[in-house]
Amino acid sequence: MTEAHTQIPVAPLGEALAPAGGETAVLTHFVDGAGWKGTGTETQLVFNPATGQPIAQTLRGTAADVDEAVAAAKAAFPGWRQRTPKDRADVLLEAAAVLEANAEELAHLESVNAGKPMPLAREDVDGTIDTLRFMAGAVRAPLSLSAGEYVADRTSMIVREPVGVVAAITPWNYPLLTAAWKIGPILAAGNTCVLKPSEQTPLTALRMAELLAGVLPAGVLNVVTGAGSVVGEALATHPDVALVSVTGSVRSGQAVAGAAAATLKRVHLELGGKAPVMVFADADLDAVAEGIRFAGFGNSGQDCGAGCRILVEESVRDELLERLVPTVESLVVGDPADGDHIEMGPLVSKAHRDSVVGFIDRALAEGARAATGGKAPEGDGYFVLPTVLVDLPDGAEATREEIFGPVVTVETFTDEDGAVEAANGTPYGLSASVWTENARRAADLPGRLDFGTVWVNDHLTFATEMPWGGFKSSGYGRDLSAYALDDYSRTKHIMVNRARGADGTEQS
Ligand code: NAD
Repeated sequence: MTEAHTQIPVAPLGEALAPAGGETAVLTHFVDGAGWKGTGTETQLVFNPATGQPIAQTLRGTAADVDEAVAAAKAAFPGWRQRTPKDRADVLLEAAAVLEANAEELAHLESVNAGKPMPLAREDVDGTIDTLRFMAGAVRAPLSLSAGEYVADRTSMIVREPVGVVAAITPWNYPLLTAAWKIGPILAAGNTCVLKPSEQTPLTALRMAELLAGVLPAGVLNVVTGAGSVVGEALATHPDVALVSVTGSVRSGQAVAGAAAATLKRVHLELGGKAPVMVFADADLDAVAEGIRFAGFGNSGQDCGAGCRILVEESVRDELLERLVPTVESLVVGDPADGDHIEMGPLVSKAHRDSVVGFIDRALAEGARAATGGKAPEGDGYFVLPTVLVDLPDGAEATREEIFGPVVTVETFTDEDGAVEAANGTPYGLSASVWTENARRAADLPGRLDFGTVWVNDHLTFATEMPWGGFKSSGYGRDLSAYALDDYSRTKHIMVNRARGADGTEQS
């Protein structure tokens, strides 16, 4: 590392959350085990979306900052990879314990920065901790083909190796959780990491790195803040980065895959979604309404798996709406700081709020009707009312594009084949749900749906043991489960020729 590593302490983030109008602290990158002021001069404000007030500043990282962070990760790689799985697992378990001891602070930071209701923010922290614990266990129990004699006199075995320095680029909707879904398997598999959090929600990633400084060896986890077009691009093109993993929009995924092509580095993409919720006439409609309340409006609908495109059998459409509209209207919307009773917070930024309102306005102009909601409320913060759009013309933009807000659309179908065709008729392939009490249909439809996750009578329930990831424009690569460990490692075949005589000469 160079002299540029003047270490300035990361301000305690409690202090960084400056009072309205107060001076905001500048948070540094985190490189080689400590806060680092970087090589650039520009900073960027970080906001509380519930109030619109700035709460901190971060550094706008440069390509030179990325060079420094990658060098630190590269230097740490040999030591980290040579540890046994048990040793790495012990470190990850300790890391999980440290995060657990600081869970309420992390949840609070996430809530203030991402506008998440506290109960949801706590769930994200729980999921973060569980991911580290699962990966610590999974790396000690690898699954692979058996070693054996597949060619006469030769013993074959497969070794799973880390790939090297992995870049992790994360979005703003689940800042800590998406980081953990990457860091957990990346580090467990023996890689080292440079993490670039979303420029809008960097606080929990920085705090996590700071908290884990006493647990992880220096350089194993580095965080560089800044713009995707600068820091993200520099990571995607860096010759010493072996794999770049992105959770974000389709456009960012395409940009990263394109940039990564020059060095032929591996790419892991978790991109957007437009999840259909297929409701058959035999479904339990009360359960459907509750399911959509949770899956369509949780995290203000800013969820790649959000159940946002309702396809309902025409004969029960009105019955479903009679249940759904009051259920959605019962959501308690407000500033998460008001208390744990808040169920839905703001959208992440003014620009994103305006984008969601734009989708609603265009749908209404196309002839759709808002059965409830349909606008942004008056007042501070970037809120949009929970919205149910009905009577949409065929192929309406709102039914095709990822809105990423508290907006669900309702379309109808008349038969099963039509429902499957409509559900699959989207470039996205991340997740879908089928709601039915018919056993044959429940067993048959998931196989006909082109989505990486299909729920039956449920939506947006995750298991750390099970993979998460998409098909088609939703990307490739899997988070969670042992498959994520596979994604962040490489297989090597070692074949040993045993056909040697006692004097060492070859026999065949
Ligand atoms: P985004 O694509 O704008 O940003 C994601 C990250 O990519 C950010 O850190 C950003 O700085 C970076 N980035 C942007 N352009 C880049 C470039 N050219 N090179 C390198 N990095 C670049 O996404 P967002 O708005 O933060 O998040 C919302 C999107 O993420 C939605 O589309 C959502 O569906 C998707 N998402 C997917 C999953 C999943 O598991 N599939 C989970 C969460 C979010």
